[in-house]
Amino acid sequence: MATAPRKLVAGNWKMNGLRASIDEAVRVADRIEGENTPDCDVLICPPATILAQMGWRLGDSAIGLGGQDCHQDKSGAHTGDLSADMLADVGAKYVIVGHSERRADHHEDDATVRAKAEAALEAGLLPIICVGETESQRESGDAYQVVIAQLVGSLPQEGKPETIVVAYEPVWAIGTGKTASPTDVEQMHAVIRKVLVERYGEIGEGIRILYGGSVKPDNAAELLAIENVDGALVGGASLNAEQFVAIIQAA
Ligand code: PEP
Repeated sequence: MATAPRKLVAGNWKMNGLRASIDEAVRVADRIEGENTPDCDVLICPPATILAQMGWRLGDSAIGLGGQDCHQDKSGAHTGDLSADMLADVGAKYVIVGHSERRADHHEDDATVRAKAEAALEAGLLPIICVGETESQRESGDAYQVVIAQLVGSLPQEGKPETIVVAYEPVWAIGTGKTASPTDVEQMHAVIRKVLVERYGEIGEGIRILYGGSVKPDNAAELLAIENVDGALVGGASLNAEQFVAIIQAA
């Protein structure tokens, strides 16, 4: 069996956070330095408005920064959008693409998500490509089919462990306090791993697959111990330093 990749615990702040909220990220950084340095990579994806200032405040801490979305074009007439180059320019190393909230709120389809992932790679960012089924899709027995189709349509042409990350986020578990059962997570992550290996060959074994959906301090250790769970994408709990640090320490 291939060696498990280094885990990644990523916080998605969504549309939360003003400049004063950067203090919370600084609290996380302070708690994971020196002898408390975690055995995983740590990332915060704040709103783009505070990304640069957060980078400046965090300095050379263990926390990396990411964007929450990027446009697929490098520049142009796209009012309100941000390009991957712009995020990289202010210190982002990663960018989330295809989050279910973007797929739902902005009608993003797999082809768009794939184009965004390609744009991220071109800008030197690691795309975190999100996939996940809705509650009705799971109930009707279509979860695997849906996730496989999303993956096949959303993955970029080239993918390596050091260039892309996948996140499995069952839509019904996001922000609801419900989590997928360990067996469901294990089975879905095994299926995703298979797709990655089929697509990219043996190196697909090393691509990180994060689980997301109501990850909290009290369920993080169990979820992060599951085979092929190479980290977590954390929404609500990442807004609170105590909770986020507890999840990081569970990795
Ligand atoms: C998310 O938005 O990616 C997420 C997983 O949110 P939460 O942890 O709040 O369910």
